[in-house]
Amino acid sequence: MEFLRESVVAKGKGTCPFCYGSEAKTPPEILVYGRNGGGANTPGWTIRVVPNKYPALGIEGDLDREGEGPFDKMNGIGAHEVIVESPDHAASLATLPERAVEDVLWAYRDRMLDLKNDKRFRYILIFKNHGEAAGASLEHPHSQLIALPIVPQLVHQEVESCWHYYHEKERCIFCDIISQEQDTGVRVISDNEHFITLAPYAPRFPFEMWILPKVHGSSFENNQSSIYSALARMMKDTLLRLDAVLDRPAYNLMIHTSPIGEETNDHYHWHIEIIPKLTKIAGFEWGTGFYINPTPPEESARFLREAHTVAPAV
Ligand SMILES: [Zn+2]
Ligand SMILES: [Zn+2]
Ligand SMILES: [Zn+2]
Repeated sequence: MEFLRESVVAKGKGTCPFCYGSEAKTPPEILVYGRNGGGANTPGWTIRVVPNKYPALGIEGDLDREGEGPFDKMNGIGAHEVIVESPDHAASLATLPERAVEDVLWAYRDRMLDLKNDKRFRYILIFKNHGEAAGASLEHPHSQLIALPIVPQLVHQEVESCWHYYHEKERCIFCDIISQEQDTGVRVISDNEHFITLAPYAPRFPFEMWILPKVHGSSFENNQSSIYSALARMMKDTLLRLDAVLDRPAYNLMIHTSPIGEETNDHYHWHIEIIPKLTKIAGFEWGTGFYINPTPPEESARFLREAHTVAPAV
């Protein structure tokens, strides 16, 4: 099986709007870490959050819903922000120091907690497109946040399935999956005191990975600080393995967390999904919702588990 193999390597700063000195090229910053002195929108920061210059959704206005025969429409109210993860144009979450990755997680959390005060929003998605093949239009390391006035269908389905499982067994399905995978070990990629990374039992895509907290929790943003440092370590470890095995592939990373207002529950277990961009979705997948995955998860887990990762000097 031939995969799409295009390593993600920074080509150069050019006129990058996320590098030091280009702060005026983005909308004014919403949140900044690390700048001591100096004015807003000047260099010296370590993390910077700005509104997306080309937002998918607009922040102004009231929700407006109307019907047109069988069709319902709604205006595009929401927030679309960019988290610039480092001033270093060529860095990535795999190569940044652990402490810097942890700060990225704190920035996610700060923005989520702030946006949750806006009563129009029902869901906040944090995601990352790494590399052009995964949809990134800028190579400077960044993630995105989108706050939505509705719970997306995919999230709704996942939460609903978890609720049905819980209703029947009085146990969380993800907690059950974790203990099953720990027993057999064949799909475990790595773990630390708070997190485990798995190749899921029926992955849709080759080398798909899930990072799950070992102790049940239903939302990303409501955790003690030790969780974020352990997650930073696990994310860096996981992404270094991916870079080593597949030679720095493009990937998408999504945080799956509970909808706003349902943050504490027994049935939903928050987690991170990472999908390397190795195959194309085509007619069969669009037509059926089935995915052809040529790599069994036991095999990808073994490659990733045995990967020789060398953390670059920091
Ligand atoms: Zn840059
Ligand atoms: Zn659980
Ligand atoms: Zn999920």
